[in-house]
Amino acid sequence: DRIVSGEADEQEISFEMSLRPQTLAQYIGQEKVKHNLAVFIQAAKQRHETLDHVLLYGPPGLGKTTLAMVIANEMGVKIRTTSGPAIERPGDLAAVLTSLEPGEVLFIDEIHRLPKAIEEVLYPAMEDYCLDIVIGKGTGARSIRLDLPPFTLIGATTRAGSVSAPLRDRFGVISRLEYYDENQLAEIVLRTADILQTEIEPEGAREIARRSRGTPRIANRLLRRVRDFAQVKGDGKVTLEVANYALELLQVDKLGLDHIDHKLLKGIIERFKGGPVGLDTIAASIGEEAETIEDVYEPYLLQIGFLQRTPRGRVATPLVYEHFQMEVPK
Ligand code: ATP
Repeated sequence: DRIVSGEADEQEISFEMSLRPQTLAQYIGQEKVKHNLAVFIQAAKQRHETLDHVLLYGPPGLGKTTLAMVIANEMGVKIRTTSGPAIERPGDLAAVLTSLEPGEVLFIDEIHRLPKAIEEVLYPAMEDYCLDIVIGKGTGARSIRLDLPPFTLIGATTRAGSVSAPLRDRFGVISRLEYYDENQLAEIVLRTADILQTEIEPEGAREIARRSRGTPRIANRLLRRVRDFAQVKGDGKVTLEVANYALELLQVDKLGLDHIDHKLLKGIIERFKGGPVGLDTIAASIGEEAETIEDVYEPYLLQIGFLQRTPRGRVATPLVYEHFQMEVPK
């Protein structure tokens, strides 16, 4: 239930749909990725070919799904979306692949969670646009080859390291999405406010941006909550004052850290003298799963230089002490 979680919650999905930029020009930030994609898209269109397969990776909420939709739109083709965990049997994937129209984009979110047997169906599909299907069993088994229409696979993952090498090698384009800076997030907040027809002052947008952990999804969510406060407690306009007031009440601090980050960081400082301390030890001490800490809580703390990973464990940097106005130990 974290308000600063990068993951989408169920009710957010239709809200987010209405905010999705449609073109590369409307897609804010990620300049390098966008620039390269624009070239690849233009080249593929000039050659009347499908775009090479694209792997997008980066933390949740940075706009991987949105970018996949933008790519399909820029290519002028339809997009079919599914996810690694939703494809349970090779037959599920075969059904999707054989029903694609020529040129279509197939988007697979959380592609690292595809079971191995299903991944193997993808290899010939990606390489030669065909499916190898085994019919029969034992000595009577034989393999038949089915041709597929040419298509572009766009895979998204939060864990590039968990995508197997043979799968990774079959993507022509591999792009990493970066956390957004404050200016870009402020621009996203202003754009969203415009779509929501909410009046907002630039300083209000900037305050929300600063506390959004480099993540558009969080920026949009915080704006929505601050807008409620503006409406009920003010005159509807999102000002710096309203933003500060609301975010304080929502317990999102000046850097976008919430009570879980505080518990984690203070735990390292108070119980382990700032570290180094092993991930499993931290996990046990604050009652969270090590994997959750690694995947969900830690990436942003590493990004802003609050935590360091060392061979002996995690270390809280002097920035953490400064943030909590504590004295840095000698
Ligand atoms: P997940 O994999 O967790 O679903 P994601 O990386 O695919 O996350 P998206 O769903 O694409 O994230 O984006 C989340 C929200 O942020 C969307 O509502 C989208 O409109 C907005 N957003 C993302 N990137 C941008 C951007 N570059 N410009 C404007 N809005 C963006």
